Amino acid sequence: MQTNYDIVIIGGGPAGLSFACSMADSGAQVLVVEKSSLEDLSKPSYDGREIALTHLSLSILKKIGVWNLVDKNSISLLKEAQVFDGDSAALLNFKSENSGIEALGYLVPNYQLRQALYQRVSQADNIKLMPDSLVDDVDYCDSHSKVIFADGAIIEAKLVVAADSRFSNIRRKMGIPSLVEDFSKVMIVSKMRHEKSHQNIALEYFDYGQTLALLPMIGDESSVVLTVSADKSAQLIQMSEADFNAKMSKDFRGKLGQLTQIGERHSYPLVGVHAKTFISKRFALIGDAAVGMHPVTAHGFNLGLRGQDILATLVKEAQDAGQDIGSESLLKLFEKKHIYLTKIMFFGTNGIVALFTNDAPVAKQIRRFVLNFAQHFPPIKHLITQHLTESGKGITLLKKVLQK
Ligand SMILES: Cc1cc2nc3c(=O)[nH]c(=O)nc-3n(C[C@H](O)[C@H](O)[C@H](O)COP(=O)(O)OP(=O)(O)OC[C@H]3O[C@@H](n4cnc5c(N)ncnc54)[C@H](O)[C@@H]3O)c2cc1C
Repeated sequence: MQTNYDIVIIGGGPAGLSFACSMADSGAQVLVVEKSSLEDLSKPSYDGREIALTHLSLSILKKIGVWNLVDKNSISLLKEAQVFDGDSAALLNFKSENSGIEALGYLVPNYQLRQALYQRVSQADNIKLMPDSLVDDVDYCDSHSKVIFADGAIIEAKLVVAADSRFSNIRRKMGIPSLVEDFSKVMIVSKMRHEKSHQNIALEYFDYGQTLALLPMIGDESSVVLTVSADKSAQLIQMSEADFNAKMSKDFRGKLGQLTQIGERHSYPLVGVHAKTFISKRFALIGDAAVGMHPVTAHGFNLGLRGQDILATLVKEAQDAGQDIGSESLLKLFEKKHIYLTKIMFFGTNGIVALFTNDAPVAKQIRRFVLNFAQHFPPIKHLITQHLTESGKGITLLKKVLQK
């Protein structure tokens, strides 16, 4: 068994595999360690997640040779987004045509993305996948890091990158503190067919007691996302299909006619995490292990892609210049280029969640005011659109400022 690599990636989820794809054909010897089986990695099963990709994410996926491997029949365009507040008339809508872009975002099933990422990784001669393997700890010295496996085996690398989920055990073992926000909410997702066309419009209803979203998929199907407090979730997960169909048809105010569940209901407890630092000696955090977002702004994987892209670019530059790919200066630069934006997104999203899930009378008034203000003040609306879609000059400027 080879015991020496340039880079060891812990976790073969979307972030870890994206980083591996970025390093494909770079000449660096890369090992991806994943605790799940090869079957899970190569043929991921449907998990109910539909990932809304921004324009920046699309360009990164194209650059790393993954986008052309995604089944084109599974990609749906988000043309418009409408946000409603409770029983008020307040409405905020974003249209791609008003921003001069083809779509606000691109919706792809998570399992399709994972499959395409796996395919790209398995095409690369310089990347080895090690499934069914659990990393227990990471140790370091000046010249290399040691990846210690649960069975006691040790592999050395110049750089270790942890992408082992928002509940990262390795982050903790490296002594990196993180801010954990338990929203005490559960997100229930289900694919549903509907009578009326969705017209490629995403819907978000910040109702009182629940948040309801609809993500338009191919044909007359959508992903319905229901967020409720943890104590109410069991009843909704166990509800009969007929009752669930009736509830969804009613909660969407008849906008889509009768809704019918297709497949299973999946549930995800909502916990947000932001690591205090993204680096340690010869070590970097990427993906949810660095920042695990509340899904309401659909930025989790988008931020993961952006982070791995920044790290991969710096690593490849160092490699080409014959420099140390795990140096402190490189890692500090990676953190500097990435951490500020993640903080803005993380705390901004948590602020939106706190306001729009607060049903106190004063909060309801503020909610309406915020939506009305954003809707009727075009520069703000334009800025939010650019921010959410990661497109346009505004966001390019923001990126430049943040990456200085
Ligand atoms: C309902 C829902 C909807 C979402 N929608 C969007 C969206 O629209 N847009 C968006 O950008 N994001 C979205 N997200 C977020 C997105 O799914 C995550 O950000 C993304 O999956 C994180 O990928 P990751 O690779 O960092 O972590 P994970 O997917 O958690 O992968 C971590 C991997 O590490 C492995 N692992 C863990 N520990 C070890 C160890 N010690 N040794 C070896 N292997 C280990 C695990 O087995 C796993 O495969 C959504 C999330 C949810 C729940």
